[in-house]
Amino acid sequence: MPEPGRRSVITGLVTGALVLGLDPVSRTWVTAAHAGGPFDRLPPLDGRLRLDAAALDAAADDFGHIVSRRPRAVLEPGSVRDVAAMVKYCRRHGVQVAGRGQGHSVHGQCQVAGGLVVDLGTLDAIEIRGDRAVVGGGATWLALVRAALAEGRTPPVLTDYLGLSVGGTLSLGGFGGAVGHHGAQVDNVLELTVVTGKGELVTCSPTRRRDLFDAVRGGLGQVGIIVEAVVRLTPAPAAVRRYNLTYPTLEALTAVQRRMVDEGRFGYLEGSLSRAEDGSWAYVMEAVAFDATPADDERLIGDLGHASAAIDDLPYFDFLNRIAPVVEILIQLGEWARPHPWIDAFLPGSKTEELVAETLPELTPELIGQSAVILLYPIPTARVRAPLVRLAEEKHTFLFGLLRTASPGSADAATMVAANRALYERVRAAGGGRYATGAVPFSRDDWRRHFGDAWPAFRAAKRTYDPANILTPGQGIF
Ligand SMILES: Cc1cc2nc3c(=O)[nH]c(=O)nc-3n(C[C@H](O)[C@H](O)[C@H](O)COP(=O)(O)OP(=O)(O)OC[C@H]3O[C@@H](n4cnc5c(N)ncnc54)[C@H](O)[C@@H]3O)c2cc1C
Repeated sequence: MPEPGRRSVITGLVTGALVLGLDPVSRTWVTAAHAGGPFDRLPPLDGRLRLDAAALDAAADDFGHIVSRRPRAVLEPGSVRDVAAMVKYCRRHGVQVAGRGQGHSVHGQCQVAGGLVVDLGTLDAIEIRGDRAVVGGGATWLALVRAALAEGRTPPVLTDYLGLSVGGTLSLGGFGGAVGHHGAQVDNVLELTVVTGKGELVTCSPTRRRDLFDAVRGGLGQVGIIVEAVVRLTPAPAAVRRYNLTYPTLEALTAVQRRMVDEGRFGYLEGSLSRAEDGSWAYVMEAVAFDATPADDERLIGDLGHASAAIDDLPYFDFLNRIAPVVEILIQLGEWARPHPWIDAFLPGSKTEELVAETLPELTPELIGQSAVILLYPIPTARVRAPLVRLAEEKHTFLFGLLRTASPGSADAATMVAANRALYERVRAAGGGRYATGAVPFSRDDWRRHFGDAWPAFRAAKRTYDPANILTPGQGIF
């Protein structure tokens, strides 16, 4: 506890009934009830600062339910000004800050022990302006899709699940089945407005503060909090024709995936592996053609050599939002609320079959859980241009996603996290790496190695834009 005499320098903030201050000695947040002394006022907020247990508990958790770090306060900004004011305040007092979008991190990446979580969900405005959308950093892709479709437009590349925030996936990469045509979501953003670790509001783009633009896209929240993004839009199709094509072997699947992603025959291309009850594996390519009809089938899949095909037609929105009904089922089963030790490995194309074949026997129900999904699809490496999103240095990188759930009767989350680390090391030894989300223990040396030749520019941007190193400590990078 600080000496009573020191209380007078505590800075305070009045938001409704709450008074928040930072104890300069213990560096802990205090309320008026604890402090009992005069406060210097912080800038007034348009939104509110929450200290209640419900807000702190929620911010101490994420979709992974593996790591828990409790913050001292949660900011629900009423404006971009609020974010800048509070980051400035936190910098002055050496308090760490993390942005939080939808909290779908799985390993504590959006948490901050004893610091401030900025819950960006209140910054969710969306304005469609022809071929672009101006979007608050906390808006979800689902909300953006709905608003864009009303104008006949769509973001060109979307994640499989739309309940993620724009700022959250732009901080990571943002992958989906259209990556073969358009790159990742970070490659389709025209401008970003961020609050840096100095509390400055800065707009950046390919032609303006390029160093910041490149350090924010895929930058894991290290140099700034994205409060607004200008996102590219393209004309939206009305419907999709989806082909789920089954192959007898892994090699047959990946060969046709490579051919299709190079040719660009489909607007969307992914793939998955699933285990039958007898232990055998099914290898499925999911390929989607926009506004196609049965008359196109022969041209689209006639030469693809599949063993069987399941074909369906869907309105474009239903296709984009296809995970929503699955989520409902997982919620009912209780699986949605269980720990999710996920990993998305990036495999070098030339070693993909070898690495997957070596890993498949390890993917027992015990080690992946009851409702796991295993993704496997190719990314043409050159399409992803944002420098901090690190793929394999080969023509193709395969995304190999093990979406594990620690279900009752399966291994616990810690065992699955250890398996993720073992897989990561196997992949790294073969020249690959990982998508910077997921539950994979990572040291600072791992991060340096992960970023490779992009590291010096990233470190320089960190020194420039977050010199006190207060932003997003949950990533464990700096
Ligand atoms: C069900 C599910 C499906 C997924 N599907 C895909 C997929 O298809 N493709 C894909 O690429 N990824 C996918 N992911 C991974 C996803 O992109 C990440 O988990 C992402 O972090 C989720 O976004 P979020 O809004 O929940 O971010 P959060 O978990 O809230 O935050 C992620 C990180 O970014 C930081 N951050 C958040 N908002 C901001 C901001 N505005 N400015 C700066 N930093 C910020 C946080 O501090 C944290 O470090 C999926 C995850 C889940 C749980």
